[in-house]
Amino acid sequence: SIKNMDLEDTLLMMPGPVSVAPRVLRAMSKPMINHRSAEFAGIYTDCRGILADVFQTKNDIFLLSGSGTAGMEAAVGSVAGSGEKVIAIENGKFGERFKDLAALYAELVPLEFEWGLPVDLEKVKEKLEEGAKAITLVHNETSAGIMNPAAEIGKLAKKYDALFIMDGVTSLGGDEVKVDEWGVDIAIVGSQKCFAAPPGMAAVSVSEKAFEAMNCMKKRLYYNDLKAYKKSGDKPRPETPYTPAIPLFYALQEALHIVKEEGMEARIKRHRTLSEAVRAAAGALNIEMFPQLNEYSQYSNTITALKSPAGIDGEDIKNDMKKRGVIIAGGQERLKSKIFRIGNMGNVTARDVLSTIQQLEIVLHKHGYIDSVGAGTEAATRVIDRL
Ligand code: PLP
Repeated sequence: SIKNMDLEDTLLMMPGPVSVAPRVLRAMSKPMINHRSAEFAGIYTDCRGILADVFQTKNDIFLLSGSGTAGMEAAVGSVAGSGEKVIAIENGKFGERFKDLAALYAELVPLEFEWGLPVDLEKVKEKLEEGAKAITLVHNETSAGIMNPAAEIGKLAKKYDALFIMDGVTSLGGDEVKVDEWGVDIAIVGSQKCFAAPPGMAAVSVSEKAFEAMNCMKKRLYYNDLKAYKKSGDKPRPETPYTPAIPLFYALQEALHIVKEEGMEARIKRHRTLSEAVRAAAGALNIEMFPQLNEYSQYSNTITALKSPAGIDGEDIKNDMKKRGVIIAGGQERLKSKIFRIGNMGNVTARDVLSTIQQLEIVLHKHGYIDSVGAGTEAATRVIDRL
């Protein structure tokens, strides 16, 4: 018998990789070209231009071969060396990753909050007052479904003269990010999230202040050295220092054209409305939101992290949903079993969200958590009707 997993239309509702449009998949099958050619320079320039608009920045943008983590490592490793303090704000798995990178390349100043709890700006200020070369923040902490106060932290970083490194891996391309206005010195995104391209590329924007810091580094990265990217990117015919992943470039360019065609305003509205629909459904189904907010934080608009309902393991919900053809995410590490997460990043539609909620209702009903199905779908529909 045919299984859902064998069908091409398995619904990917996880926080990346996300479903990739057929025209993006087709773009990857084009013939290879010389990466030191006007043709490649054209693709690179086109991608950088669209990304600059999405990032809302005049800073240089580079495209790295590698996933989001390659961009995070490039950012931290290019601007801070041993003995230089890097404050790493952590309230989830990816904040922890910045902490690990800061410990590896520089002198780590950890600023830890329990995963899913909001960032306390007073504590950020206290750490900055002690002086630091850089501060790292995950804007949209995917592991906990919380959106951290990037604008406020950018302001503080500027006041205390620290470089602001921001992971926008699951916000850029799906939610509002204002790199220049917020004073983000290095912003990072991965191709497989809100841009709905295949995995394998990272984009980073770099400010003048960050380049100045790079000039003072005693020891430099090799493959992901952002100074090398700057040198190659500044050529009259822009290129990457090493051979780029050409098929992924084709795909990203096509994916970015889809972003441009939709328009960022509409794209952000769609992400916000669809995540609100998921939250409304959760409320109607008596499922609690996982993150705790303060006045400076928000629920993520690209991923919803929900507490596992009493008596049900989040992993079971994830696995039952998979059997029904919908791929959602569980909790990572210490959050495993305790939460489950529904993504709505990329080119997700209202139909995708409603199908997901319907399947979730069936799963919850089978577990005996709800008496009848329909309340979640109805609540989500009311929100979606506004789109
Ligand atoms: N940062 C955030 C917020 C993420 O959600 C992810 C991936 O899920 C990463 C960083 C790491 O990206 P990658 O897996 O592409 O290296």
